[in-house]
Amino acid sequence: MGNLRTALLAWLWARRSGREFLIRVEDLDRVRPGAEQRQLDDLRTLGLDWDGVPVHQSGRLDLYDAAIARLDRDGRVYECFCTRREILEAPTAPHHPPGAYPGTCRDLTDAERAQRRTERPAALRLRADVATFTVEDELHGTYEGAVDDFVLRRGDGVPAYNLAVVVDDAEQGVDQVVRGDDLLPSAPRQAYLATLLGTRPPVYVHVPLALNASGRRLAKRDGAVTLGELRADGIDTFALIADSLGLTGATPQEVLATFDPATLPTERWVFVPPG
Ligand SMILES: [Zn+2]
Repeated sequence: MGNLRTALLAWLWARRSGREFLIRVEDLDRVRPGAEQRQLDDLRTLGLDWDGVPVHQSGRLDLYDAAIARLDRDGRVYECFCTRREILEAPTAPHHPPGAYPGTCRDLTDAERAQRRTERPAALRLRADVATFTVEDELHGTYEGAVDDFVLRRGDGVPAYNLAVVVDDAEQGVDQVVRGDDLLPSAPRQAYLATLLGTRPPVYVHVPLALNASGRRLAKRDGAVTLGELRADGIDTFALIADSLGLTGATPQEVLATFDPATLPTERWVFVPPG
């Protein structure tokens, strides 16, 4: 329900400004069989339509390779051999925000790198030359957040989420990103990376997430939280979502006719599944 609610908002933001609404399947990590089809079916059931054919990140590895190669030519990439634990335990410099990569592998010598390569496969990190970056968000205004030497390619060879979405947005011509506000802190990193890759960062709209009764992100263990489960319980899921947003209309098209972002609730939506 949380993801579908965000999808409805993304659709409304796109359509009210005459934009296309694109579907991208972010499947660089292993996905459950059937999950994609279920999600697309759910969108259709809610009455959301989209433009073109969904693209799959798993089929776009060449694009991510090319972006990393470009950054590497610009001297922006270095190998990192740190484990998660080493990063957590490393002493942090005062100007580093909590959780930021402390720069341990930034200036290793060739000999040190050669030695560490025998120990574990390297991740690739961005050599960032800023500590913060500012983005524009339609709900949050001007937002400044931390940028560190974040991962571009994981140690297991998989392109990092932050890299993949920036490359995809640029390649697909995405100029507006509407998503859950748990991703707001990632936006400055992604916008900074976009500028390094020579593209304009999108306009962001980070919308309030759906939470369970204890204030955590809504998840399967909370009960009937999928569209299929709620419909099986006889619940009008579109009405439930529209109501949670203070929107009127029985279909996305009807809601669109009167949609005004200024009237959206700004607090997160607490959803208590029935039963
Ligand atoms: Zn490292």
